[in-house]
Amino acid sequence: MSLSYVHPASDSPWGTYLSQVERVLPYLGDLARWAETLRRPKRALIVDIPIELDNGTIAHYEGYRVQHSLTRGPGKGGVRYHPDVTLEEVMALSAWMSIKNAAVNLPYGGAKGGIRVDPKHLSQKELEKLTRRYTSEIGLIIGPHQDIPAPDVNTNGQIMAWMMDTYSMNTGATATGVVTGKPVHLGGSLGRVKATGRGVFVTGREAARRIGLELDGARVAVQGFGNVGSSAAELFGQAGAKIVAVQDHSGTVAHPNGLDLATLIPWVRQHGGVAGYAADGAGTHGAEVIPDEAFWDTACEILIPAALENQITAARAERLHAKLVLEGANGPTGSAADDVLADRGVLVVPDVICNAGGVTVSYFEWVQDFSSFFWTEDEINARLDKIMVGALRRIWEVADQHRITLRTATFAVACERILTARQERGLYP
Ligand code: GLU
Repeated sequence: MSLSYVHPASDSPWGTYLSQVERVLPYLGDLARWAETLRRPKRALIVDIPIELDNGTIAHYEGYRVQHSLTRGPGKGGVRYHPDVTLEEVMALSAWMSIKNAAVNLPYGGAKGGIRVDPKHLSQKELEKLTRRYTSEIGLIIGPHQDIPAPDVNTNGQIMAWMMDTYSMNTGATATGVVTGKPVHLGGSLGRVKATGRGVFVTGREAARRIGLELDGARVAVQGFGNVGSSAAELFGQAGAKIVAVQDHSGTVAHPNGLDLATLIPWVRQHGGVAGYAADGAGTHGAEVIPDEAFWDTACEILIPAALENQITAARAERLHAKLVLEGANGPTGSAADDVLADRGVLVVPDVICNAGGVTVSYFEWVQDFSSFFWTEDEINARLDKIMVGALRRIWEVADQHRITLRTATFAVACERILTARQERGLYP
């Protein structure tokens, strides 16, 4: 297998990440000497996951866990189940975790995992077998003080419960701190499920305030209506914004005066996507189906990409109407598109700070597990708000100081922390 490690395709997630690193080098001073650290994942594990399907056949899936950096603490990052997962994608996602964790100053490195599988084609029993075998295989390198997985695309609290149980069975002691995003009665944290969406809202609220954009009445388009997109939409709705378009893997629905979230959210939960919602008629208050590509032409002030990588291409960046882009997804904007948005004066709150609310509450969960003392939801939300606002303020100062984008500024803040730790620890041997 050839791994395009050093020269990836420029629009691949790893290629995007490497060009983001390139852009921050001029702002790192003498620390740039250590920059090669950022271009190489510390460790990558590829595992074979054989399971017996319900029909008696044996299926094999390929899984990964990549620890991009362990310099500032244990690895931390989600696990994704998706048919497009590759080692190179997981490398990029793990690297973005290193940047994200450092940007909000959590005491973690960066890691990510994934399995190339379409979980929609598996039964619950098959999903459990897949999860348990994957956990056992990556058990070599995960642990409460080594690397702590969490949910990501198509994984959830139930999957975290199976991971925690499998790891605990293998090690002989219940280890709640080995994963975060667990159900609340298994050492999970209140507020974790909605934390990523809440962080998108908090950073969006701060960015809107700085550019004089009133949230009350603002039009918002959301791509991806899973955990992150729907929670963010709900909070923007509560702040008076109108959710004028929602797109997911099943289709796109729109309403110029705002979709009715009180019926759309339960619909998506029940049917697995927005498809069929507008056709349902009663209760949808005139929602319309629009062609998927027309989503990018939606008249709106705020765009929230909360699905997968590389959705905002340069061509779409030329077209979109938003003044503010809030990256709920990881890696939704390629580097060429980033330049187009900057030239057009569109403000982008980058993934590595915008969606950091999830891992921040994961950190709260991990801390609560170790102390066996659990906080109230209000305490969690208040602490999350404070950390996100403080981190964004620091990033904004750096952006203003060097006249750089928020993305490059977030990388500057994060890379300085990572590389300072790298330098202070020194090389072994
Ligand atoms: N998967 C989420 C992310 O991309 C959360 C990771 C975590 O909580 O460790 O940030």
